Amino acid sequence: MAKVLILSGAGLSAESGISTFRDSGGLWEEYDISIVCNHDSLENNEKITLEFYDKRREELQSKEPNKAHKRLVALKKAFGDEIAIITQNVDNLFEKAGMPREDIIHLHGFMTEVICRECHSIFDISYAKIESCNTGMCPSCLGKLRPNIVFFGEQAPMYEKLSEHIQDCELFVVIGTSGEVIAVNSIARHVRNSILNNLEESEAIDDTLFSKVHYIKATEAIDTICDDITSFLS
Ligand code: NAD
Repeated sequence: MAKVLILSGAGLSAESGISTFRDSGGLWEEYDISIVCNHDSLENNEKITLEFYDKRREELQSKEPNKAHKRLVALKKAFGDEIAIITQNVDNLFEKAGMPREDIIHLHGFMTEVICRECHSIFDISYAKIESCNTGMCPSCLGKLRPNIVFFGEQAPMYEKLSEHIQDCELFVVIGTSGEVIAVNSIARHVRNSILNNLEESEAIDDTLFSKVHYIKATEAIDTICDDITSFLS
Protein backbone atom coordinates (compact mmCIF):
# COMPACT_ATOMS: atom_id res chain seq x y z
CA MET A 1 0.00 0.00 0.00
CA ALA A 2 1.08 3.54 -0.72
CA LYS A 3 2.68 5.77 1.93
CA VAL A 4 1.35 8.91 0.28
CA LEU A 5 -2.34 9.39 -0.54
CA ILE A 6 -3.23 12.28 -2.84
CA LEU A 7 -6.95 13.11 -2.93
CA SER A 8 -8.08 15.65 -5.51
CA GLY A 9 -11.35 17.34 -6.37
CA ALA A 10 -12.90 19.76 -8.82
CA GLY A 11 -10.48 22.57 -7.83
CA LEU A 12 -7.61 20.69 -9.47
CA SER A 13 -9.30 20.91 -12.86
CA ALA A 14 -10.67 24.44 -12.39
CA GLU A 15 -7.61 26.02 -14.05
CA SER A 16 -8.18 23.76 -17.05
CA GLY A 17 -11.54 25.44 -17.55
CA ILE A 18 -13.86 22.88 -15.92
CA SER A 19 -16.08 24.60 -13.36
CA THR A 20 -16.33 23.34 -9.81
CA PHE A 21 -19.75 22.82 -8.19
CA ARG A 22 -18.99 25.38 -5.55
CA ASP A 23 -17.93 28.17 -7.92
CA SER A 24 -21.10 27.73 -9.96
CA GLY A 25 -23.38 28.15 -6.93
CA GLY A 26 -24.93 24.67 -6.97
CA LEU A 27 -25.13 24.64 -10.75
CA TRP A 28 -22.80 22.86 -13.09
CA GLU A 29 -22.68 24.73 -16.41
CA GLU A 30 -26.21 26.07 -15.81
CA TYR A 31 -27.84 22.76 -14.92
CA ASP A 32 -29.36 22.20 -11.48
CA ILE A 33 -27.22 19.48 -9.92
CA SER A 34 -30.15 18.14 -7.89
CA ILE A 35 -31.94 17.43 -11.19
CA VAL A 36 -29.10 15.83 -13.15
CA CYS A 37 -26.80 14.29 -10.50
CA ASN A 38 -29.22 12.66 -8.11
CA HIS A 39 -29.96 8.97 -7.51
CA ASP A 40 -33.43 9.44 -9.04
CA SER A 41 -32.29 11.62 -11.98
CA LEU A 42 -32.49 8.81 -14.54
CA GLU A 43 -35.90 7.75 -13.30
CA ASN A 44 -37.46 11.24 -13.17
CA ASN A 45 -35.43 13.36 -15.57
CA GLU A 46 -33.79 10.90 -17.94
CA LYS A 47 -33.67 13.08 -21.07
CA ILE A 48 -32.13 16.16 -19.45
CA THR A 49 -29.74 14.00 -17.38
CA LEU A 50 -28.38 12.17 -20.43
CA GLU A 51 -28.19 15.47 -22.32
CA PHE A 52 -26.21 17.06 -19.47
CA TYR A 53 -23.58 14.30 -19.53
CA ASP A 54 -23.48 14.31 -23.36
CA LYS A 55 -22.57 18.00 -23.18
CA ARG A 56 -19.98 17.55 -20.42
CA ARG A 57 -18.40 14.66 -22.37
CA GLU A 58 -18.28 16.67 -25.59
CA GLU A 59 -16.71 19.72 -23.95
CA LEU A 60 -14.06 17.55 -22.30
CA GLN A 61 -12.48 16.96 -25.69
CA SER A 62 -11.04 20.48 -25.81
CA LYS A 63 -9.88 20.62 -22.15
CA GLU A 64 -6.21 20.21 -21.40
CA PRO A 65 -4.44 19.12 -18.21
CA ASN A 66 -2.78 21.92 -16.25
CA LYS A 67 0.60 22.08 -14.57
CA ALA A 68 -0.73 20.46 -11.38
CA HIS A 69 -2.02 17.36 -13.24
CA LYS A 70 1.28 17.08 -15.12
CA ARG A 71 3.47 17.38 -11.99
CA LEU A 72 1.40 14.76 -10.17
CA VAL A 73 1.63 12.35 -13.10
CA ALA A 74 5.43 12.77 -13.17
CA LEU A 75 5.59 12.21 -9.42
CA LYS A 76 3.54 9.02 -9.66
CA LYS A 77 5.83 7.79 -12.46
CA ALA A 78 8.88 8.47 -10.27
CA PHE A 79 7.57 6.82 -7.09
CA GLY A 80 5.13 4.20 -8.39
CA ASP A 81 3.26 2.28 -5.70
CA GLU A 82 4.52 4.56 -2.92
CA ILE A 83 1.94 7.10 -4.07
CA ALA A 84 -1.81 6.53 -4.50
CA ILE A 85 -3.67 9.07 -6.59
CA ILE A 86 -7.39 9.14 -5.88
CA THR A 87 -9.70 11.71 -7.44
CA GLN A 88 -13.32 12.75 -7.09
CA ASN A 89 -13.07 14.19 -10.59
CA VAL A 90 -14.85 12.47 -13.42
CA ASP A 91 -12.82 14.20 -16.13
CA ASN A 92 -9.90 12.53 -17.93
CA LEU A 93 -7.27 15.23 -17.42
CA PHE A 94 -4.87 12.99 -15.46
CA GLU A 95 -5.10 10.47 -18.30
CA LYS A 96 -4.55 13.21 -20.89
CA ALA A 97 -1.42 14.17 -18.93
CA GLY A 98 -0.09 10.61 -19.40
CA MET A 99 -1.42 8.72 -16.38
CA PRO A 100 -2.26 5.09 -17.21
CA ARG A 101 -5.94 4.44 -16.38
CA GLU A 102 -5.00 1.69 -13.92
CA ASP A 103 -2.75 4.04 -11.92
CA ILE A 104 -5.57 6.29 -10.76
CA ILE A 105 -8.74 5.70 -8.80
CA HIS A 106 -11.78 7.70 -9.92
CA LEU A 107 -14.11 7.61 -6.91
CA HIS A 108 -17.13 9.05 -8.68
CA GLY A 109 -16.83 7.48 -12.12
CA PHE A 110 -15.40 8.46 -15.47
CA MET A 111 -17.03 10.81 -17.96
CA THR A 112 -15.92 9.10 -21.17
CA GLU A 113 -17.48 5.77 -20.15
CA VAL A 114 -21.04 4.47 -20.12
CA ILE A 115 -22.28 1.51 -18.11
CA CYS A 116 -25.15 -0.90 -18.69
CA ARG A 117 -27.94 -0.47 -16.11
CA GLU A 118 -28.59 -4.24 -16.24
CA CYS A 119 -25.34 -6.20 -16.71
CA HIS A 120 -22.96 -3.39 -15.62
CA SER A 121 -20.67 -3.81 -18.64
CA ILE A 122 -18.61 -0.65 -19.20
CA PHE A 123 -17.93 0.89 -22.63
CA ASP A 124 -15.59 3.75 -23.49
CA ILE A 125 -17.39 6.12 -25.86
CA SER A 126 -14.76 8.85 -25.74
CA TYR A 127 -16.47 12.21 -26.40
CA ALA A 128 -19.54 10.91 -28.23
CA LYS A 129 -23.21 11.11 -27.25
CA ILE A 130 -24.58 8.11 -25.34
CA GLU A 131 -27.04 7.45 -28.22
CA SER A 132 -24.10 6.84 -30.56
CA CYS A 133 -23.29 3.66 -28.64
CA ASN A 134 -25.74 1.10 -30.06
CA THR A 135 -28.59 3.69 -29.77
CA GLY A 136 -28.06 3.89 -26.03
CA MET A 137 -28.55 0.14 -25.47
CA CYS A 138 -25.93 -2.25 -24.11
CA PRO A 139 -24.14 -4.11 -26.96
CA SER A 140 -23.96 -7.19 -24.69
CA CYS A 141 -27.44 -7.52 -23.14
CA LEU A 142 -29.51 -4.69 -24.71
CA GLY A 143 -30.11 -3.12 -21.30
CA LYS A 144 -30.22 0.69 -21.18
CA LEU A 145 -26.89 2.47 -20.93
CA ARG A 146 -26.18 5.35 -18.52
CA PRO A 147 -23.15 7.56 -17.83
CA ASN A 148 -20.56 5.74 -15.70
CA ILE A 149 -20.90 8.39 -13.02
CA VAL A 150 -21.82 7.94 -9.36
CA PHE A 151 -24.83 10.16 -8.64
CA PHE A 152 -25.61 11.63 -5.21
CA GLY A 153 -27.17 8.95 -3.02
CA GLU A 154 -25.75 6.05 -5.03
CA GLN A 155 -23.19 3.52 -3.86
CA ALA A 156 -19.60 4.36 -4.82
CA PRO A 157 -17.75 1.04 -5.15
CA MET A 158 -14.35 2.72 -5.26
CA TYR A 159 -14.75 4.07 -1.69
CA GLU A 160 -13.52 0.69 -0.52
CA LYS A 161 -10.17 1.37 -2.24
CA LEU A 162 -10.00 4.77 -0.55
CA SER A 163 -10.55 3.13 2.87
CA GLU A 164 -7.78 0.61 2.17
CA HIS A 165 -5.33 3.35 1.27
CA ILE A 166 -6.21 5.42 4.34
CA GLN A 167 -5.13 2.54 6.60
CA ASP A 168 -1.48 2.64 5.46
CA CYS A 169 -1.19 6.28 4.57
CA GLU A 170 1.61 8.28 6.23
CA LEU A 171 1.17 11.51 4.27
CA PHE A 172 -2.27 12.72 3.17
CA VAL A 173 -2.42 15.41 0.47
CA VAL A 174 -5.68 17.17 -0.40
CA ILE A 175 -5.91 19.33 -3.53
CA GLY A 176 -8.99 21.23 -4.71
CA THR A 177 -11.82 19.72 -2.72
CA SER A 178 -14.31 21.41 -0.39
CA GLY A 179 -14.64 18.22 1.67
CA GLU A 180 -18.43 18.37 1.32
CA VAL A 181 -18.59 14.93 -0.27
CA ILE A 182 -15.57 13.08 1.20
CA ALA A 183 -15.00 13.44 4.96
CA VAL A 184 -11.52 14.89 4.64
CA ASN A 185 -11.33 15.81 8.35
CA SER A 186 -11.62 12.25 9.57
CA ILE A 187 -8.82 11.13 7.24
CA ALA A 188 -6.56 14.03 8.32
CA ARG A 189 -7.19 13.11 11.98
CA HIS A 190 -5.99 9.58 11.29
CA VAL A 191 -2.75 10.56 9.49
CA ARG A 192 0.27 12.22 11.13
CA ASN A 193 1.38 14.32 8.14
CA SER A 194 -0.99 16.17 5.87
CA ILE A 195 -1.11 18.95 3.29
CA LEU A 196 -4.18 20.96 2.25
CA ASN A 197 -4.47 23.07 -0.92
CA ASN A 198 -7.66 24.93 -1.74
CA LEU A 199 -8.44 28.45 -2.87
CA GLU A 200 -10.02 29.36 0.45
CA GLU A 201 -11.31 27.94 3.73
CA SER A 202 -14.15 25.47 3.50
CA GLU A 203 -16.87 24.97 6.13
CA ALA A 204 -16.41 21.22 5.85
CA ILE A 205 -12.64 21.22 6.46
CA ASP A 206 -10.88 21.93 9.76
CA ASP A 207 -7.55 23.21 8.48
CA THR A 208 -5.96 23.02 11.95
CA LEU A 209 -5.83 19.26 11.40
CA PHE A 210 -3.32 19.74 8.56
CA SER A 211 0.46 20.09 8.92
CA LYS A 212 0.65 22.49 5.96
CA VAL A 213 -2.06 24.63 4.36
CA HIS A 214 -1.86 26.46 1.00
CA TYR A 215 -4.79 28.71 0.11
CA ILE A 216 -3.60 29.44 -3.43
CA LYS A 217 -4.21 28.03 -6.90
CA ALA A 218 -3.18 24.41 -7.35
CA THR A 219 -0.82 25.36 -10.19
CA GLU A 220 0.96 27.74 -7.80
CA ALA A 221 1.08 25.33 -4.86
CA ILE A 222 2.08 22.23 -6.81
CA ASP A 223 5.87 22.77 -6.88
CA THR A 224 6.06 23.06 -3.08
CA ILE A 225 3.66 20.15 -2.62
CA CYS A 226 5.70 17.90 -4.96
CA ASP A 227 8.95 18.94 -3.22
CA ASP A 228 7.43 18.01 0.16
CA ILE A 229 6.24 14.64 -1.12
CA THR A 230 9.64 13.95 -2.70
CA SER A 231 11.48 14.78 0.56
CA PHE A 232 9.03 12.63 2.50
CA LEU A 233 9.67 9.60 0.29
CA SER A 234 13.44 10.09 -0.14
P1 NAD B 1 -16.23 21.50 -4.84
O1 NAD B 1 -16.75 22.25 -6.03
O2 NAD B 1 -17.17 21.21 -3.74
O3 NAD B 1 -15.02 22.33 -4.21
C1 NAD B 1 -13.96 22.81 -4.99
C2 NAD B 1 -12.80 23.16 -4.09
O4 NAD B 1 -11.70 23.47 -4.93
C3 NAD B 1 -13.04 24.36 -3.19
O5 NAD B 1 -12.60 24.02 -1.88
C4 NAD B 1 -12.15 25.46 -3.79
O6 NAD B 1 -11.54 26.28 -2.79
C5 NAD B 1 -11.08 24.65 -4.46
N1 NAD B 1 -10.50 25.29 -5.66
C6 NAD B 1 -11.15 25.97 -6.65
N2 NAD B 1 -10.28 26.37 -7.58
C7 NAD B 1 -9.05 25.95 -7.17
C8 NAD B 1 -7.74 26.05 -7.71
N3 NAD B 1 -7.50 26.68 -8.85
N4 NAD B 1 -6.72 25.49 -7.02
C9 NAD B 1 -6.94 24.84 -5.83
N5 NAD B 1 -8.16 24.71 -5.28
C10 NAD B 1 -9.20 25.26 -5.94
O7 NAD B 1 -15.55 20.19 -5.44
P2 NAD B 1 -15.35 18.71 -4.83
O8 NAD B 1 -14.94 18.82 -3.40
O9 NAD B 1 -14.48 17.99 -5.79
O10 NAD B 1 -16.78 18.04 -4.81
C11 NAD B 1 -17.72 18.19 -5.80
C12 NAD B 1 -18.14 16.93 -6.54
O11 NAD B 1 -18.30 17.40 -7.87
C13 NAD B 1 -17.20 15.77 -6.65
O12 NAD B 1 -17.92 14.65 -6.31
C14 NAD B 1 -16.80 15.66 -8.13
O13 NAD B 1 -16.99 14.35 -8.61
C15 NAD B 1 -17.78 16.54 -8.85
N6 NAD B 1 -17.22 17.45 -9.89
C16 NAD B 1 -16.23 17.01 -10.70
C17 NAD B 1 -15.67 17.86 -11.64
C18 NAD B 1 -14.57 17.33 -12.53
O14 NAD B 1 -14.52 16.14 -12.80
N7 NAD B 1 -13.65 18.17 -13.00
C19 NAD B 1 -16.12 19.18 -11.74
C20 NAD B 1 -17.16 19.60 -10.90
C21 NAD B 1 -17.70 18.72 -9.97
